[in-house]
Amino acid sequence: MTYVEPAPIAIPSEPIGSIPRPPDLLQKLAQVDSEDPALAALYEDAVRDTIERFEATGSLVITDGEQRKYHNFLTYCVHGLPNTSADGFKIPYSDGHTRRMLRLTRGPFRYLRYADSYLDMAMRYAHVPVKQAVISPSALSLMYPAEGFPNYPREQFIDDAHKVQIDFTEARLAMKIDPSGQLLDSFIDLNNLALSRFSPEERRRIGVHTCPGGDFHATHSAEVDYANLLPRFFELKAGNFYVALAGEQDRRRVLKIIRKYLKPNQRIFVGVIAPNRAGIESAEEVRDRVLEASEYIPIEQLGTTDDCGFAPFSDDTSTSRDTAFAKIRARVLGTALAENLIGGGSS
Ligand SMILES: [Zn+2]
Repeated sequence: MTYVEPAPIAIPSEPIGSIPRPPDLLQKLAQVDSEDPALAALYEDAVRDTIERFEATGSLVITDGEQRKYHNFLTYCVHGLPNTSADGFKIPYSDGHTRRMLRLTRGPFRYLRYADSYLDMAMRYAHVPVKQAVISPSALSLMYPAEGFPNYPREQFIDDAHKVQIDFTEARLAMKIDPSGQLLDSFIDLNNLALSRFSPEERRRIGVHTCPGGDFHATHSAEVDYANLLPRFFELKAGNFYVALAGEQDRRRVLKIIRKYLKPNQRIFVGVIAPNRAGIESAEEVRDRVLEASEYIPIEQLGTTDDCGFAPFSDDTSTSRDTAFAKIRARVLGTALAENLIGGGSS
């Protein structure tokens, strides 16, 4: 007689990306530009320390904490381009502060650096899979000025800009800028154009992230109803969706929307940690959020994540490194607790 052990229930848990930078790196960054050789040793130390501490949380997927993404997750790939100026698209946050995109001053658009250039250093230190967030073509499309260029039409810019992999963070903001949904639709189309270059197998490994923004504990689009975003969001041709949820007023309402619009081949990583909130979640709190989500999302399509990165902009020190890693540890532990309960775990 043979006995086949049932496959254990696995709930994958992954970070979004950024971790607050160490103070000595921030200090130096304030004095020199991102490519200054004086930074090399500090970058190396920051990446090594981040990966060590990330692995110590028990997270089975890690990032390099975006320690080398200067100044932020949005403009790292175009920072230093001669045909840009600092007065681009403005993002207002709930506490009154703003961030700005770079503005393209003439064509053609070219990437100055790709996010995968950061991977080699991370891979030297990592013992588990490293995830790399990549800014979406739709975010970069905000660089193209509304008035356009006579000799460099928007169509040409789009063609130049979509040749890259994807992560999508400004979807919810799009609904705030343009409540008619047209801007969001154009973002979805643009990102799907990029995604359609990948095979279905590759797309299963590509994820997209949506959140209301996180910078100095403030948001840029929390007031936009997920009901106006998620139906379109799930039209993206990707396999994984990282949806901020822990910071939502009414999580069950959002979960109902997810249940209604999610497609069979999509995995939804729900946010169980709120980087915008100072307190550290307990593992039990996280466990209960996973159990709650499992009432709405089939377990084989469920995963957990943080609502956002912990410092998408390098100068944001509103969260300490200690707090960020304590929150990540709670996510890992709490997800495992839920996994055991749901799977009737043997331990
Ligand atoms: Zn985010």
